[in-house]
Amino acid sequence: MTGILETRALRKSFGGLTAVDSVNFLVEEGELRAIIGPNGAGKSTFFNLLTGVLRPTAGRVLFRGEDITGLPPHAISLRGLGRTLQNSALFPALTVFENVWLSAQAGQVQKLVLRPSLRRSVEQRVVEVLGLLGLEDKQDVPAGDLSHGDQRLLEIAIALGTNPSVLLMDEPTAGLSPKETRDFLELIRGLASARTIVIIEHDMNVVMSLATTITVLHEGRIVADGKSKDVQANPVVRRIYLGEPARDDAHG
Ligand code: ADP
Ligand code: MG
Repeated sequence: MTGILETRALRKSFGGLTAVDSVNFLVEEGELRAIIGPNGAGKSTFFNLLTGVLRPTAGRVLFRGEDITGLPPHAISLRGLGRTLQNSALFPALTVFENVWLSAQAGQVQKLVLRPSLRRSVEQRVVEVLGLLGLEDKQDVPAGDLSHGDQRLLEIAIALGTNPSVLLMDEPTAGLSPKETRDFLELIRGLASARTIVIIEHDMNVVMSLATTITVLHEGRIVADGKSKDVQANPVVRRIYLGEPARDDAHG
């Protein structure tokens, strides 16, 4: 079976610590996949390997069947593998529109000057993305003046600027209120209808209501992978992730 995003025996060591260990991961086109695991499990490092922010110590990353291991982040992003970035990626003095525009033009500034049709298509893309996220009324507001919740939405808008076919999101609901989190989940469901999404999320309830398939990382390794219901019932997952004590009868 070929997936849209795949890793083979992917590993990352920091000195003596192996943060990602022999990970074989496969996502099919159109999936909404969650990755869960305790703090320090290697989730963010795994995303950094997928997006070229870090080079793996060993193993391969394949996107649409093509080996992208070791490519720089911008090259991977241009191929259609996008990710949300943290607040620091926003330009606070630039407007919402300008922030998304910078992402949507994706290094084509020189061409834009010469080609009005390309300029229009980039602007259309920005308008479309702002509409998807309900930010159209705030397009002229400086990013730094947005509420925390709206800044998180803008991070997604920036990631969508390049029109990625796969979107990676690292704990997008962190720091949001319960109401904001509910709205966010609705939004992510909507986005998932048109693209593949892989989301790192620490809240088990959020994960269960959102994703159809779950991958559980623990100490850099995949300890469970599959349908949400099966993963939730998995005794190893319950012990590691939910902190339930080991039960003798769980091992048969
Ligand atoms: P998670 O996102 O699941 O909380 P991380 O991927 O951030 O986990 O971290 C996994 C492990 O790798 C942790 O023990 C962390 O301290 C370590 N780690 C992450 N990045 C680095 C780095 N740049 N240098 C050294 N150790 C790191
Ligand atoms: Mg993390």
